[in-house]
Amino acid sequence: MTALLLALAVAIVNACILLRDRVAKKAAEQKGTTASGRGDVIFVLLFLGFLIYAVWARGFLAGVGLTFLTCLGTVLVAALLDGWLTPWLRKRMGVAEAKPQPEPAPAPPEPPAREATAEERIWRIRDSIQELENAKDATIALLEAPSGMDTAWRDMWIGDAKEAYYSVVAAWEMLKGASEKRERAGNARSLLDAARSRTAQWASELRSLGTDQARRLEAQLNAAFEKCYEQFSVELAPYEEKPEVKPPEHRIIRVSADHYELPCSVCGKISVVFRVGKPADWEKPETYLLYSGITGGIYPGLNIQLAEKALGLLEKGDLAALHSYMEEAQALEDGIDAYCPQCDAIFCWQHYNAYETYDEGFYDCTYGTCPQGHRRIIDD
Ligand SMILES: [Zn+2]
Ligand SMILES: [Zn+2]
Repeated sequence: MTALLLALAVAIVNACILLRDRVAKKAAEQKGTTASGRGDVIFVLLFLGFLIYAVWARGFLAGVGLTFLTCLGTVLVAALLDGWLTPWLRKRMGVAEAKPQPEPAPAPPEPPAREATAEERIWRIRDSIQELENAKDATIALLEAPSGMDTAWRDMWIGDAKEAYYSVVAAWEMLKGASEKRERAGNARSLLDAARSRTAQWASELRSLGTDQARRLEAQLNAAFEKCYEQFSVELAPYEEKPEVKPPEHRIIRVSADHYELPCSVCGKISVVFRVGKPADWEKPETYLLYSGITGGIYPGLNIQLAEKALGLLEKGDLAALHSYMEEAQALEDGIDAYCPQCDAIFCWQHYNAYETYDEGFYDCTYGTCPQGHRRIIDD
């Protein structure tokens, strides 16, 4: 009986020591000091003392067993007392209530990396050009692999790939000097636009091969080119002469009774010309209704018989009727190339967002998408 009472006493005392120590440690932590280890020593000594007593009083096995039960009892008592003893101890020792860990303060934003200079960025475009070069080399390897392909044909396609690639390289060389000379920016832009056309042609040739490898190569090539194009455009922008974006005063400019010009409705750039006359190098007597649009002109010109009605419609300012008339008379297969029927407006190459497409290496057609998003084939 004495042993059991003693065991209970030890359990209660040790439980209190356990709880007190925990709070003391917290208090020390908050003050930035270390808690004394006195509690731990008493705790261990009490158990050891009890163990010795229990073994002496009850024999080894029962003594050890009883000590073990005392340990369990300690934990049990500590759990029971925790609810009211711990807050009381905290108050006494001046320990702040355990607060939920504050959210770690967001790491201060990385100091912004130093902006790369234009020169560094231009230098980096070489990486994208390298990807294009890889596509070019892969294309050449693919075309040179033994196949039933006609050699003249093969050489032409290899030439197209090389032309596209070297246009980009030349554009890059121009770009490097663009900051000193503005005309270099213009040259770089022309080379880049030429490269875009050649790349479209090159891609169409790969597509016509119809193999998986060629299709992958086509995707690789297009991705590499688009990346180059984007990077070039960013770098060229500051040096490019901004075309004066000023809507024209009149949508039709009457130069004379048989000479009319149609300006772009966005920027005013002359995009279409209708004129009665002869091409500059024309030696024969007959005259034509000369026409030039954004995708080119008609050589030597349109049938002069069309002139009367066409010029009449221009005089009236009826572009819609003129467009239809040109189509119906089969003078211009797709009507006036610069004209958007839905908008009833003229757009220059740039504002019509025109681009050429190729099929098996041959020019296929030109698409235009007006600023309102109306898309049509403007030249076939
Ligand atoms: Zn324009
Ligand atoms: Zn439109």
